[in-house]
Amino acid sequence: MAINAPKGTKDVMPKDAYKWHYIESEWRKICAEYGFGEVRTPVFEATELFNRGVGETTDIVQKEMYTFKDLGGRSITLKPEGTSPAVRAFIDSKQFAEIQPTKVYYDTGCYRYEKPQEGRLREFHQFGIENFGASNMLADAEIIDLGAEFLRRMGITDIELHINSVGCRKCRPLYRKALQDFLRPKYDCLCDTCKSRFTTNPMRILDCKSQEDQDLVKDAPLMIDYLCDECRTAFEALQKHLDALGIDYIVDPRIVRGLDYYTKTAFEFVTTKIGAQGTVCGGGRYDHLIEEVGGPDMPGVGFGLGKERLLLLMDKCGSFMGTKENPQVFVAFVGDAAQEYALALTKELRTAGVRAEMDTQGRKLKGQLKLANSLDAVYSVVIGDDEIANGELTVRNMAESTQEKVQRGSLIEYIRSK
Ligand code: ATP
Ligand code: MG
Repeated sequence: MAINAPKGTKDVMPKDAYKWHYIESEWRKICAEYGFGEVRTPVFEATELFNRGVGETTDIVQKEMYTFKDLGGRSITLKPEGTSPAVRAFIDSKQFAEIQPTKVYYDTGCYRYEKPQEGRLREFHQFGIENFGASNMLADAEIIDLGAEFLRRMGITDIELHINSVGCRKCRPLYRKALQDFLRPKYDCLCDTCKSRFTTNPMRILDCKSQEDQDLVKDAPLMIDYLCDECRTAFEALQKHLDALGIDYIVDPRIVRGLDYYTKTAFEFVTTKIGAQGTVCGGGRYDHLIEEVGGPDMPGVGFGLGKERLLLLMDKCGSFMGTKENPQVFVAFVGDAAQEYALALTKELRTAGVRAEMDTQGRKLKGQLKLANSLDAVYSVVIGDDEIANGELTVRNMAESTQEKVQRGSLIEYIRSK
């Protein structure tokens, strides 16, 4: 019996891999330009890291984690997101003792037991960046700017940046109370999930996907009206920085990150182009996370960006998605001597950095050219006794069905010049 890919996972096959290579190399490039260095962390971590770093009251920890006991009896979890592992590595490596801030990026698989649908998988991939150590809103603006600039480079149009402030440990308790007071008379009408959020994480109720709950919270008080002076000043500074950077944004008081260690800035890049899963990138400030995970009292800010959703969106936008890695030349041959000649010529081309391919199945000429076609080779040459004798090759443009004579010694130059 055939074994299928696990539900909610997707293979990337060679015919599409070039798109992934493209976004990955552009991602590395922009991160280097903005001064972020790569951090690579394990696929699995101690479960406790996410209980603390993502939060016991979140959907991720409550119902989406891939958690199991390893053979040594430890509770292990496949990483559902990239921030907590990056924070853990920052602490583990004692990087916090160096000059700050520490600016890192990652490109990682994430694992969440979710209901699979378009743009929502159980194994998906994220780009992310984090700035550890900077409390100034210039850091938040830099993070948002990198996100906006990357999406611009990826040819994304019709995307909105929504920003909000979720306050801090000083002002949020007051707001929380106001929100609970508002919700208490409506408690019985809330969905079961939101009932359980009422005490532990009431801000998440604003974010509930159920329409009934959305109607109930339509006139709920908003954090933005309860900000303390420090948070208000910070939010104004962020907007001033975004203006200076020429970045458009919408103040959206409904973006929430209900957890205690999320502070001040919260933001999302949202689009309606790819259906319900329209949040391509989400992030914010987490001034108490590093401490929560066992490090020093240090601020942080960052975002995560879903690669699958990015690729869906690029496709919808008709964006440039990289160059296919198809052969530039297919070297066909007729006869035994020509086979060895073709082998050497193919190697010579490859050594010179040209994508070259030849048949390794002993096909007849017709079969070789069929193969060249199906590989989408740009040019083909056919080596026979004449070509070996006079060193003159016929280079055929496969798509245009035109051909030119080229000396063997000039073949590499010829292909490169095209
Ligand atoms: P959503 O509200 O869509 O569930 P989230 O708040 O869970 O998103 P984050 O944890 O902020 O998402 O992750 C950052 C980004 O990762 C998202 O904006 C999205 O692009 C992507 N992402 C999150 N979950 C998935 C998933 N299951 N499949 C594919 N991409 C995902
Ligand atoms: Mg989610």
